[in-house]
Amino acid sequence: MTTSPMPRGSCSCQQVSFTLTGPVLFRALCHCSICQRFNAAPYGDVLAIRAGDVAVKGAEHIAYRSHRQPPLLSRGRCARCDGVAIERLNLPLMPKIYLIPAQTFEAAAVLPKASFHIFYDKRQQDHADTLPKSSGYLPSELRFTRALLTSLLKK
Ligand SMILES: [Zn+2]
Ligand SMILES: [Zn+2]
Repeated sequence: MTTSPMPRGSCSCQQVSFTLTGPVLFRALCHCSICQRFNAAPYGDVLAIRAGDVAVKGAEHIAYRSHRQPPLLSRGRCARCDGVAIERLNLPLMPKIYLIPAQTFEAAAVLPKASFHIFYDKRQQDHADTLPKSSGYLPSELRFTRALLTSLLKK
């Protein structure tokens, strides 16, 4: 075990807070329009982690909403401050996964670096990094699902 504290985060008003108790599976940057709106940012920056590896406080204050059918992903905001909280991924045959926006973590939290971009064709700005970039619905969904499967099988 490492001695550095586990990453912690919260919504803006701190009514909903969480601590990671296990490893982050991966971190991804999504440029789709729903992520842009949900995060009020040029793109979504999320950490994927097993739901069982996150200790959530104030979970009853999270209001979840799905923005697309089928509702595989529901996005949660704090009911009090409307700040982004946790996104829940419910894929068949998979363990429950949370996607936690990087912006919710405390500034001091040590987070893994992002490993790819998806929906890059919807980007508001170019990114000069060397990360893989997928454009379009199917390639983006496939890259994300592949990252999820690979990381789940590794851990
Ligand atoms: Zn809040
Ligand atoms: Zn997205």
